[in-house]
Amino acid sequence: MKKVLTVLIFLSLVVASGPVFPSVIPNGTAVDESVILAFARQLAIGKTVEAKITGKGQDCYEFDTASDGTIHVKAGTARGVLYAVYDVLDGKTSGKETPSFSVRGINPCESFSRHTPDMIIRLIDRMGRWKMNRIIIHTEYGFERYKDLIVRECAKRGIELVYYLYDNVCFGNAVPRAYWAVDKQGKVRAPHDHLEAYDRVCASKTEGFGPYRKGVESYLSKHSDFRHIMFATADGGDYCQCPECSLKGPWEQVLPFFNLFFDVASDRTRELLVYHERYEVPKDLSRIGKLNRVMYDLHSRNRMSALTDSGKKTNNRYLYDRLLEWRKAVSGTLCIFENMMMQGDFGVPNYSVEAYLEDLRQFRQDGINGMIYEVYETGIRPHLPVLNVLSKAMWRSSDQYQIKEDANPELQHFYRLVRNFKSAPNLENLKALNTFLLNHPDRDHFDWLYIGFTSMKRCDAKAKSKLSQTSDPLEKLFLETNKLWDFMEKVENPRETTGRIITKIMERL
Ligand SMILES: [Zn+2]
Repeated sequence: MKKVLTVLIFLSLVVASGPVFPSVIPNGTAVDESVILAFARQLAIGKTVEAKITGKGQDCYEFDTASDGTIHVKAGTARGVLYAVYDVLDGKTSGKETPSFSVRGINPCESFSRHTPDMIIRLIDRMGRWKMNRIIIHTEYGFERYKDLIVRECAKRGIELVYYLYDNVCFGNAVPRAYWAVDKQGKVRAPHDHLEAYDRVCASKTEGFGPYRKGVESYLSKHSDFRHIMFATADGGDYCQCPECSLKGPWEQVLPFFNLFFDVASDRTRELLVYHERYEVPKDLSRIGKLNRVMYDLHSRNRMSALTDSGKKTNNRYLYDRLLEWRKAVSGTLCIFENMMMQGDFGVPNYSVEAYLEDLRQFRQDGINGMIYEVYETGIRPHLPVLNVLSKAMWRSSDQYQIKEDANPELQHFYRLVRNFKSAPNLENLKALNTFLLNHPDRDHFDWLYIGFTSMKRCDAKAKSKLSQTSDPLEKLFLETNKLWDFMEKVENPRETTGRIITKIMERL
């Protein structure tokens, strides 16, 4: 009976709300607004939601609550209705909000495989409450495993999926090995029989371009549902060192591939990641100038000071000046990618919130359209106070905020173990750090799989020789793969397998 009543109430609410406007977000992807509205009403238990969606002003919304509890919302999008419901759940009775940034989101670099389904649901739920509308999906790393879950949970909150395509992994694997990037001695740099995150194709052996193009065609036909795609090159800076490529700058090694991608993917919304050694706007804007979107990655910045910290020639200033050049060069949406949780920091917060807030105020003035923060669920706890503030500041960038940065004093011991390991990555510190994590009652509160894997990569020679004393083929594969994500793609049950290997190695050390 209760179920029937719920359904009846739900149906009457849908009818009461009037027509639902079909909505198209700027990348051409249709958002099913009825799914978002149904979810908003599901959250507003016991309250009627009267929604008017104008289709104007992006996610702007205004609302008030009648004496009978009915929430009246006028919003640009269905997301705005959901945001009003979140405000009511927070105890507000009326409000009017306009975002400072039209794009607000996260990039959970890089693998979903280290998350459980519950963690993914929790992360996407946080995104809704932070009033975010975009998630960056690293397609080759754990996404397929959780695809249905991610698509479903994001649809409820109107979160747009942007597919981050490592061009080497997605397309470059169609290129024969003879045309892959080489070192100075002419030896292929890729250590395995396929290209992984750090590996590249040679930009001078033009015989590889045809297969690369076929690789793009084949990938896109296999993934016709990826409507918004971002072109990202191999991670890091291991460019090809063949005699011809050695004379080329980073952009010259990337543009031939980007141009092929751009031409083949003309039916999709295309985005470019501006990253590592390629901050200067290239001279050839024949395609880049037509891009719908650019994401500018600030990974190399000093995170303790604002990007405009000084008039001197700091790296921050260099990045900021290049950013303004990009703003002039592209007419489409320009977003910042801020490496907030920075995997390599092992979950220890290493940034200044004031600097981030100052950046938001400056970016808004400079016409930057959005912010994407590196955020994942594993090890998120100490970052939550800051994320709560930044999510508000993306709506009201000029407000003042109170920040309690050290909300988890019990984590000081963990921080100390990380600092000890980083200053001396020897066997003793490696063992101390990983033993703490393995013995922790809820080790998933830490990014322990990443930390276990990466600390073993980074330990000193003496510790490494001890680690390598194994005949177990899985352990060998674990120790010989450059990135955790690539390892996790090679094994069954990646979370369990990775955890088991870390435990096994620690037991024999
Ligand atoms: Zn080359």
